[in-house]
Amino acid sequence: MKLILLGAPGAGKGTVAKLLTQLDGSVQISTGDILRAAVAAGTELGKKAEAAMKAGDLVSDDLIMGIMSERLKQDDCKNGYLLDGFPRTIPQAEALTKMLADMGEKLDAVVNIDVPRDVILDRLTTRRTCTKCNAIYNVKSNPPKVEGVCDKCGGPVVQRDDETEQAISNRLDVYNQKTAPLASFYEKAGMLMTVTATSSDTVIAAIKSKLGIK
Ligand code: ADP
Ligand code: ZN
Repeated sequence: MKLILLGAPGAGKGTVAKLLTQLDGSVQISTGDILRAAVAAGTELGKKAEAAMKAGDLVSDDLIMGIMSERLKQDDCKNGYLLDGFPRTIPQAEALTKMLADMGEKLDAVVNIDVPRDVILDRLTTRRTCTKCNAIYNVKSNPPKVEGVCDKCGGPVVQRDDETEQAISNRLDVYNQKTAPLASFYEKAGMLMTVTATSSDTVIAAIKSKLGIK
């Protein structure tokens, strides 16, 4: 399947994407994960993205489109992909539309995961992430078995740099201003499905039913 996962920070895009990859071999493509890896490795890309990310601002459309035009050409995209955190602005969405048309590809749907703001805030402040494999934990609802150690790969599980109260509040404002308008963009294109749910299982069930997957 080829899907865009739309939703505020903390809506569960990453968790849903990871679960969907188990259904049909599609790959999760998270621009946030790609950028964090670049920052950790100290690459040119990482240096350009670091300050904006730490403040909870968006990285420039040019950088993002550069990453995605390369990424979508890779072989593992043949079985489908789940775009997690991309596109995030109208210019990115327009550029993606053009890129897919040039590649002769078509998305199945754009899934808008709609979660109440109080749930989002609570989740973001309690979220922890493995810096090695990007597994997502929650100190309250889903802690790793050993504190600070990833169950899956043994890597360090930490609070992200942009998960301070200040950066979280900025990320939510940026989402409302820049990314929320994508819902009507894709609604007009006849591609939007909105799922209002706080459990990833409910979101998965809605997507399966929409795409006719058993
Ligand atoms: P979340 O959805 O939880 O906010 P992500 O991991 O998707 O987090 O993104 C983390 C940060 O990476 C964003 O706050 C932003 O700085 C940057 N980023 C990720 N994807 C994009 C994108 N498509 N356009 C611009 N910036 C991006
Ligand atoms: Zn891990």
